Amino acid sequence: MLLRMSTLFLRTLREDPADAEVPSHRLLQRAGYVRRVAPGIFSWLPLGYRVLRNVERVVREEMDAMGAQEVHFPALLPREPYERTGRWTEYGDGIFRLKDRKDNDYLLGPTHEEMFTLLVKDLYSSYKDLPLSLYQIQTKYRDEARPRAGILRGREFVMKDSYSFDVDDEGLAASYAAHRAAYIKIFDRLGLDYVIVSATSGAMGGSASEEFLAACDTGEDTYARCLACGFAANVEAVTTPVPASETSDSPAAHLEDTPDAPTIDALVNVSNALPNLRRLDRDWEAADTLKLLLFAVTSPSGDRDLLAIGVPGDREVDMKRLEAQVYPANVEPAGEADFARHPQFVKGYLGPQVLGSASASGVRFVVDPRVVTGTRWVAGGNEFGKHTYDLVVGRDFVADATIEAAEVRAGDACPSCSQPLEMARGIEVGHIFSLGRKFAKALELTVDDERGEQAVVTMGSYGVGVSRLVAAIAEQSHDDRGLIWPAAVSPADVHIVATGKDDAPFDVAEKLAAGLVLRGKRVLLDDRRGVSPGVKFNDSELLGVPVIVVVGKRLVDGVVEVKDRRSGERVDVAVDAAVDHLTGV
Ligand code: ATP
Ligand code: MG
Repeated sequence: MLLRMSTLFLRTLREDPADAEVPSHRLLQRAGYVRRVAPGIFSWLPLGYRVLRNVERVVREEMDAMGAQEVHFPALLPREPYERTGRWTEYGDGIFRLKDRKDNDYLLGPTHEEMFTLLVKDLYSSYKDLPLSLYQIQTKYRDEARPRAGILRGREFVMKDSYSFDVDDEGLAASYAAHRAAYIKIFDRLGLDYVIVSATSGAMGGSASEEFLAACDTGEDTYARCLACGFAANVEAVTTPVPASETSDSPAAHLEDTPDAPTIDALVNVSNALPNLRRLDRDWEAADTLKLLLFAVTSPSGDRDLLAIGVPGDREVDMKRLEAQVYPANVEPAGEADFARHPQFVKGYLGPQVLGSASASGVRFVVDPRVVTGTRWVAGGNEFGKHTYDLVVGRDFVADATIEAAEVRAGDACPSCSQPLEMARGIEVGHIFSLGRKFAKALELTVDDERGEQAVVTMGSYGVGVSRLVAAIAEQSHDDRGLIWPAAVSPADVHIVATGKDDAPFDVAEKLAAGLVLRGKRVLLDDRRGVSPGVKFNDSELLGVPVIVVVGKRLVDGVVEVKDRRSGERVDVAVDAAVDHLTGV
């Protein structure tokens, strides 16, 4: 392959695009790999499309190698199957819905569990046909609330999605393991620095779902890891080690005036400042207070219910963790109107006694797992300007349940070994998920089992963010001058830059390019005449091909300069030896 810069459809930009939030977005646009069409919608230009196809190729090869078979579904899908699994409504505003000329409903596929399930149901009927893994590499559509960071979170993007079909749980476990192994090969080949984190809490079974995160400070996903035992989990999946219940001999709960203390900080200050509230053993801390927050939870069918959450006052509720807990419902902080409907809820002074399904309010009341029986708290007094002290869980109030919604912080105890957790950020590039029988049940995918009885098939679903990977790799591999592609995905193996006014460097560069092409190398040749060396060097660094060869001034000494874009190393190589030298890199 030989690409000539003189005719390549490419314009590099000197300036950063104004809307670029992260390095990959900035560099992929400046280097002319992608162009924005609308929010979260991008076109791929020649070099960018090559990188995308290289990622696709690695993914395809490893999926084929593990025995999955490639198929291709339409992106335009009928409503009916999604109606049967409930996802037509569950997806809420997250999918693009449209109508045909006969007023029938369609959607643009956000993911394809339904279609794969129906296809297998169409053709297979016996356990002997299983196991089966099918995949596709396809454009997906999601009307993301916050398309951001260029192709990292698009509204149209390329995903590899695969689905496994098994007759029993052991089969599913094997299919899951095969996908996991294939993903490890894919991300290793792509040169990615990644971690595998569990994505569901223990309740669903240890390895029911795992995410592959590209380590990256600008990533949207926060995960917790424990260096002591190797535990790593998405924050949504981190569980709180439950402290032992306490037996408390604290005095009866008492209501106190706490002037000007509508916030936790103010409450702690007042409690430490007023002699009648002060603690004798130590100062009050935010963690001694129980912060109550009111949320509105809206189910996919539109029912709106209030949910009160109690967390230790030194912690916030993490919306992502809360969203994961209430999914598929939506959740948002309750508004003035919600408080108005419950006059017994005094904003800023809400206390647990008026909450709980058993209370008159009927509002569901859940607490952080740290709020165990016997522990003692300071909480709102349900009267303006007052708080209740020495409120004991189990004695003075009970919650309906516990919830994992409080933020996870560095230093929190590891759920598996209790050592302190560390927090880090990443970009989700893959997700493997033991779906189980949910979709097969809804769509009635059954096969005859060994005894001739009908068995509901059990499924796994596995995604790789193919287009997102292009950006994730760029996030991990760049410097302030431009992109630095790993060899496996680079749009070319060698970038030859010819400089000068004479023909000689151009002739030598052409010969070198031809020699490399013969050896199977993919070459990008900067054969532009009348473009200054400075511009060419800058472009070569911006474009990010890992090996750059400069054919220019040093030709008088019979050498070309070979630069390694990754290490920055430069070596002179004799013109005659250059093809051999570069075939080895
Ligand atoms: P996220 O949490 O980032 O929204 P998700 O959990 O909704 O992703 P899945 O449904 O598991 O994503 O999709 C499989 C893969 O597709 C993800 O691991 C991710 O790499 C990729 N992906 C998902 N949404 C997008 C998007 N909007 N743009 C680009 N890639 C995406
Ligand atoms: Mg996911």
